[in-house]
Amino acid sequence: MHDEFLIGIDLGGTNIKGALLDINGGIIEKKEIPTLANTGPEAVAGRIAGMITELEITARERSKGVTGVGIGVPGQPERSTGDVIFAPNLYWRNVPLVKYLRRKTALPVFLENDANVAALGEQWRGAGQGSANMVMVTIGTGIGGGIVLDGCLYTGANGAAGELGHTVIEPGGPQCSCGRRGCLETLTSATAMVRMAREAMDRGVITELFREENLEARDIIMAARAGDRLALEIVEKAAYYLGIGLGNIINILNPDTIVIGGGVSRAGELLFEPLCRAARENCLESAGSIVRIVPAQLGNDAGFVGAAQLVLQNTKR
Ligand SMILES: [Zn+2]
Repeated sequence: MHDEFLIGIDLGGTNIKGALLDINGGIIEKKEIPTLANTGPEAVAGRIAGMITELEITARERSKGVTGVGIGVPGQPERSTGDVIFAPNLYWRNVPLVKYLRRKTALPVFLENDANVAALGEQWRGAGQGSANMVMVTIGTGIGGGIVLDGCLYTGANGAAGELGHTVIEPGGPQCSCGRRGCLETLTSATAMVRMAREAMDRGVITELFREENLEARDIIMAARAGDRLALEIVEKAAYYLGIGLGNIINILNPDTIVIGGGVSRAGELLFEPLCRAARENCLESAGSIVRIVPAQLGNDAGFVGAAQLVLQNTKR
């Protein structure tokens, strides 16, 4: 039983990534296929089942069984029923994904939010390895968060924990997709950085880069690296607000490690230097003195690695 394999699936809006892993998180085989969300939930679930079957065949070829399947979904899971309540990128509402996959594969299947499985992945095999109390923050179009306490995923009373992106950092600030104002997501995400750049350009601020229509956060980061003043200011501002958010988290949870993932984290020292400074200025010294704030290491693998760890989280005695 102990040396059986695990299957981790990362269901995304564009691609389904999956892998067969050994009990220590070593990757045996990786797969990736398009999600084709427009084909509907049943067709997408069918493709996931097909991927699981293929990975199970690889396990059998090596004379191993599969303990279970973990799946990270881009939305809100109901852990007790295994339904995906809401996944806007997939156009899913109340999809009984776990029931379907259990029927098709006869394996135990566990469901979790994608930000949470990414946190589990980084804690198991990435930047948070060896950490007992870790928070992961993913900066993308929005801001995702995952919390691992005493080595276990912390999801809260009804699964809504870790939503750092919707903590209010600037009362009355920019409008957020959640309906409120001044959430961290409106001040630090890739979307927020692009908005800040556009606002500055509308005010007539002189800058090298921003002539393109489809400006992205990565363009701003590249311009900042090249020394563009406006781009540097935007990265620093994003880091400053995120630092305030992290300071609050550090005071509440006293983590030993905070892992920063997502495209914006590739800004390197440009982001991390002002970020670490702001985080330490905005928390008590006792908690601030021990926390490491580090970039994620697993990239796109974090989802399926963490999904495989989810199986262990749910089956350990
Ligand atoms: Zn919000």
